[in-house]
Amino acid sequence: MDPHNLYIYNSLTSSKEKFKPLRKNSVGMYVCGPTVYSNVHLGNCRTFISFDIIFRYLRYLGYNVRYVRNITDVGHLEDTGEDKISKKAKVEKLEPMEIAQKYTNSFREVLKNFNVLDPSIEPVASGHITEQISIIEDLIEKNLAYTSNGSVYFDISKYNKIDSYGKLSGRDLEKIKSNSRDLSSQDDKKNEYDFALWKKAEKKHLMKWKSPWSEGFPGWHLECTAMSNKYLGDEFDIHGGGIDLKFPHHDCEIAQAVGYTGKQPAKFWIHANMLTLNSKKMSKSLDNNILPDELFSGKNDFFSKPYDPNVIRFFFLQAHYRSELDISEIAINASEKGFERLVEMIDRLKNIKVSSINNDNLLSQIKDWEKNCFDCLDDDFNSPMLIAEIFNSSKLITQIEKDGDAGQRDIDYFLGLFDILLNKILGINYSKSTSDNDSILKILLNVRDEARAKKDFSLSDSIRDQLNKLGVKVNDKD
Ligand code: AMP
Ligand code: ZN
Repeated sequence: MDPHNLYIYNSLTSSKEKFKPLRKNSVGMYVCGPTVYSNVHLGNCRTFISFDIIFRYLRYLGYNVRYVRNITDVGHLEDTGEDKISKKAKVEKLEPMEIAQKYTNSFREVLKNFNVLDPSIEPVASGHITEQISIIEDLIEKNLAYTSNGSVYFDISKYNKIDSYGKLSGRDLEKIKSNSRDLSSQDDKKNEYDFALWKKAEKKHLMKWKSPWSEGFPGWHLECTAMSNKYLGDEFDIHGGGIDLKFPHHDCEIAQAVGYTGKQPAKFWIHANMLTLNSKKMSKSLDNNILPDELFSGKNDFFSKPYDPNVIRFFFLQAHYRSELDISEIAINASEKGFERLVEMIDRLKNIKVSSINNDNLLSQIKDWEKNCFDCLDDDFNSPMLIAEIFNSSKLITQIEKDGDAGQRDIDYFLGLFDILLNKILGINYSKSTSDNDSILKILLNVRDEARAKKDFSLSDSIRDQLNKLGVKVNDKD
């Protein structure tokens, strides 16, 4: 099991630590999912792709990974205090749950386009209200939460007697003045840094549930504590999200979980860095967001042509997940060229004439290269280093072309590694299959035209019918 030496940067300790799962052979990973009130932008996608690599690599290492990525469909408030989903429901004249469903569907479709694997469980916040209420009851009983005018708040000063609040972000409590996602009236709270676990809903509020305190809704931070605890237990291996969630969201999650279970919830905290546009964080609120579909179709204000999702994925992976990445046409075009070079390089290897004798010396050179590649992944999933190492193999391919002494076994091993590294782990589809399929289709249609010219209608109809079965419609002009 795991002959590798995987080191992961743990945001909790600000250091790279050797990864060892809590339970043998199994890994529990929770990642904060999207708030489904609008389409996800490229920045959101970058974060989910970063975790997709982590998920894929852990699976490759042989772990049985339970990957939980939630859907936030309640409790995420606008600066005005209005629920984001309710607000959008009014604008689009739909039920809040229709909004949540619509944008959940589009989120899933976008991630499919990016070749992101589905998580093992994708729980929704509104489906876990009972669990959230139970946690609040427990925290009140332990004196770590208090009620106030129908709302419930987490008591930071009490919590600080058992653990220190803000340790993930390293924020000094005295300096924590405002919390933009929790604009509770100051009068209701004992301290300004206390945060809401339950909010009493105003009459006009659309999404509310009965509770022992009021008809209301849970605070945003609570859902992740409830769902991670339910599906991964009191202690699990990895908790992730974008770096902008470190504070307050993740610090609040830690406080709730420690208060509730007496244990630190996650061993490793992983934070993915932001995608920026002109050095500014891409965000819905700054209105500088690019939607994936705009990039794939070429219809946007920033780029002059469409891009393949594979190229965008490759562009993201050319930066380490912990580094900020600025998106620009120049940078994506450079990635596109790089991606083409990569495909050509692998094609050269596929077309090499093999010798009838296998070459042990060459195989051991390929294995040395393999080790270098896995060293990159073991070093905190370093995808840019891995991609550089993959390009390095070009020298080896040139050498094989020149010497002509590679056996079938050696080439198969080499090609198998590209499949593992690029396809399975980085999720990059590098085969030229689409253009190959197009060429095969053209050949078939030509054969059919010839058959029709010779009045061999049984052959031409058979080709048409079989193509129709594959979803390819053949229209005859005459
Ligand atoms: P949200 O729907 O706003 O909760 O965001 C969903 C995920 O996308 C969270 O993990 C955020 O941290 C992440 N995210 C938001 N903006 C960006 C960005 N510009 N770059 C990378 N990740 C982002
Ligand atoms: Zn969360």
